Amino acid sequence: MADEFDVVVIGGGSTGENAAGRAREHGLAVALVESELVGGECSYWACMPSKALLRPSEALAAVRRVPGAAQAVTGELDVAAVLDRRDAITAHWDDKYQVQWVDGVDAELVRGRGRLAGERRVEVDQRDGSTRKLTASKAVVVATGSLAAIPPVSGLRDVKTWDNRDITSAEEAPRSLFVLGGGVVGCEMAQAWHSLGTETVILAEALDRLLPNEEPFASGELTAAMESQGITVRTGSSGRAGRVDREGDGPVAVTMDDGARFTADEILVAAGRRPATEDLGLETVGLEPGKWIEVDDHLRVRGVDGGWLYAAGDVNGRALLTHMGKYQARIVGDVIVGKDIEAWADNRAVPSVAFTEPQVASVGMKVQEARDAGLDVAVVQHATGAVAGAAVFGKGIEGTCQLVIDEDREVVVGATFTGPGVQEMLHAATIAVAGEVPLELIWHSVPAFPTISEVWLRLLEEYKYGL
Ligand SMILES: Cc1cc2nc3c(=O)[nH]c(=O)nc-3n(C[C@H](O)[C@H](O)[C@H](O)COP(=O)(O)OP(=O)(O)OC[C@H]3O[C@@H](n4cnc5c(N)ncnc54)[C@H](O)[C@@H]3O)c2cc1C
Repeated sequence: MADEFDVVVIGGGSTGENAAGRAREHGLAVALVESELVGGECSYWACMPSKALLRPSEALAAVRRVPGAAQAVTGELDVAAVLDRRDAITAHWDDKYQVQWVDGVDAELVRGRGRLAGERRVEVDQRDGSTRKLTASKAVVVATGSLAAIPPVSGLRDVKTWDNRDITSAEEAPRSLFVLGGGVVGCEMAQAWHSLGTETVILAEALDRLLPNEEPFASGELTAAMESQGITVRTGSSGRAGRVDREGDGPVAVTMDDGARFTADEILVAAGRRPATEDLGLETVGLEPGKWIEVDDHLRVRGVDGGWLYAAGDVNGRALLTHMGKYQARIVGDVIVGKDIEAWADNRAVPSVAFTEPQVASVGMKVQEARDAGLDVAVVQHATGAVAGAAVFGKGIEGTCQLVIDEDREVVVGATFTGPGVQEMLHAATIAVAGEVPLELIWHSVPAFPTISEVWLRLLEEYKYGL
């Protein structure tokens, strides 16, 4: 006999939790199936621990920028205390608080590995070896997330490597670290561990710049900062690893395509993600295992009849960020009860922050993307430090603020901010982009003085008067 629910959610990461939560708000009976820790990657091996590792050096740098306060800093980072805080932030990799939340919303947590078993059916291999059969009268939501991808570098699959789980939960700084991949994860972790004592960090990106999805100026500023901090950055042809060799736990040797050779204590593979869709029973509903699950804007899985199967979060490949997965999950919960609501922000107004030094925060279209889309765009820039608020905030605030403006409609379609603390400037831009707020109205959105947000005014002046 199968246990019957209105909704079965497979995967209890941030997306699955939010889908379950929204379905419960609508009064539906929900089972949440989780094979590891409720809370998923973000809570234990991604966003939260990575930011916990980065924040102390950021805080220290912020204080050092303020004469008077800087003098109070007489020591260096206490690495053991940083790691203790990281452990506390991950609740020591114990999901009891998240389980309390699931209990609190009165969803049923089913511990085990879930697998689709045909239309509206899910089978869960439980820890005691038994199989529990579930049926969903209204919907099954797949929210199984993603895993670290392994790029096709000779020897890489045969040696011991670190992925995001190892690097975010490491108990001590390796003496040397080779980072394969210069996206957000690679850049953040290179700087985090360098600040925590890893003497030699080599960061290799096969494309021609770090953070290839960001504006080129942001990549340039980050590369310059990293190099001045003593991190070796290799991009393009000199950033392509050709072969990796390692004997057991010994040092890893990386031979680059251009012949350069590096050795390091550990190698972090941070070269993208792959969907967690192997062994998920996708073939029982006519889908191919191992692939991203394609969805329409209602988050319904394409190619499956009946409108009962949804996929949200990393697993659908639309926008691999916690907040966008949660956004999709809220929509799924509403669509299941018949609301006609579509996801669109996850392809038009995706905010993202690289918590690097300098931070890179962006939303919406990049300049090239806007031009490729046929928009007639104006690009305005202002130095992050060239406002009174920055002078008060600290010495040497460097970075760039940029708006991409659609000239025909006079709305902001993209924004990028670099510099310390710009993470908190991003949401204003997200509102402007998602809300298509006319520039005429933004003129009346007066930034408080003296804040760094005053750059908004300078950017408008630059656009209107070329100042
Ligand atoms: C190092 C790192 C740092 C990051 N930092 C940020 C950040 O600062 N901000 C941000 O927005 N994003 C960040 N991300 C991305 C973010 O972690 C993901 O977008 C987010 O975790 C996706 O959530 P999800 O619920 O879709 O998937 P996941 O968090 O992967 O959750 C999926 C869950 O499903 C479970 N599961 C899988 N298969 C099954 C099955 N068959 N049965 C039962 N359970 C199953 C898994 O155990 C897991 O708990 C970061 C990623 C990395 C790697």
